[in-house]
Amino acid sequence: MKLNAPLVDQFARRITYLRLSVTDRCDLRCSYCMPERQVFLPRKEVLSLEELHELSLGFIARGITKIRLTGGEPLVRRDMIELVQALGRKVGDGLEELTMTTNATRLAQFAENIRAAGVRRVNVSLDTLDREAFARLARRDSLPQVLEGIAAAKEAGLKVKINTVALKGINEDTIPDLIAWAHGEGFDITLIEVMPLGEVEEDRFDHYLPLSAVRDRLERQWTLTANDHRTGGPARYVDVAETGGRLGFITPLTNNFCDGCNRIRVTATGQLYACLGGNERVDLRAALRSDNPDAELAQALDVAMKIKPERHHFVIDKPGGAPALSRHMSMTGG
Ligand code: SAM
Ligand code: SF4
Repeated sequence: MKLNAPLVDQFARRITYLRLSVTDRCDLRCSYCMPERQVFLPRKEVLSLEELHELSLGFIARGITKIRLTGGEPLVRRDMIELVQALGRKVGDGLEELTMTTNATRLAQFAENIRAAGVRRVNVSLDTLDREAFARLARRDSLPQVLEGIAAAKEAGLKVKINTVALKGINEDTIPDLIAWAHGEGFDITLIEVMPLGEVEEDRFDHYLPLSAVRDRLERQWTLTANDHRTGGPARYVDVAETGGRLGFITPLTNNFCDGCNRIRVTATGQLYACLGGNERVDLRAALRSDNPDAELAQALDVAMKIKPERHHFVIDKPGGAPALSRHMSMTGG
């Protein structure tokens, strides 16, 4: 066993990208993501700041070059900025990029410090610019704070990308306005298909909107030209001639993208999930808390490479279908 061998899975995919969930908690309750009465983990189950840091260093030693901090909502964790600062010191020293996915409700407070710590880009999830629709969808009337957070990020010099889940009957009519707004602000925007992860109060089938349909509709009003831009993720991009901006599509259901997967995900309790859509996992918390953490961690990562599946098998094809997994996206980290 080599403590610093690169992470390569059984399908010869080199794993260089870690999505690290720092909390499963959130201040919003997006209805496609979690139920209103979501039960959160007891705090003692969650990795400490020191453990998250040690774990990240272990990953960097194994060739992880990009870490995205996520959740739940990463910025609701109290010591979050300390983790960002600690990991920011590794940027240029093993780590090529440190990023974050956030709902932006608290970004106004943290944007400058995040940028000062070495973060250059953030993904902000925003599904609508309509305050009432936002309040219904997120079950919290937080659009003003979100927009303030986005403005603060821009002001601080962070590059912002907007992520939008396309939802039938909820935001499908306002997606063009959102794209035009994002491009007007100088932001890329990526549309995402809703995935059947975890029980929620509604039937996801009712709101599932294939992006092929969204694209057809956009093409009736705009000129979309394929763009080779890649961010190391599953999005495929087009340029929109009329807005002058870039638009991405993430299509886990209509167009599987697992061939080029370069990522793994770790929950706030240190469970490494080898695939967003599978239950294959190894317990890194146990490794970290063992008598020989370096060796145990290296061994656990070797196991993860052996069990990473070739692809996910999500479908949303009928009303009342059960989620593909009981685990919510807020647990695994989006
Ligand atoms: N709270 C942060 C946020 O919303 O940006 C980070 C975590 S959130 C789980 C990450 C992303 O997952 C968000 O863009 C959200 O829209 C997306 N997401 C959550 N549940 C999803 C689902 N069932 N299908 C598709 N995307 C989902
Ligand atoms: Fe919270 Fe993000 Fe899930 Fe919305 S999508 S409930 S902001 S974790």
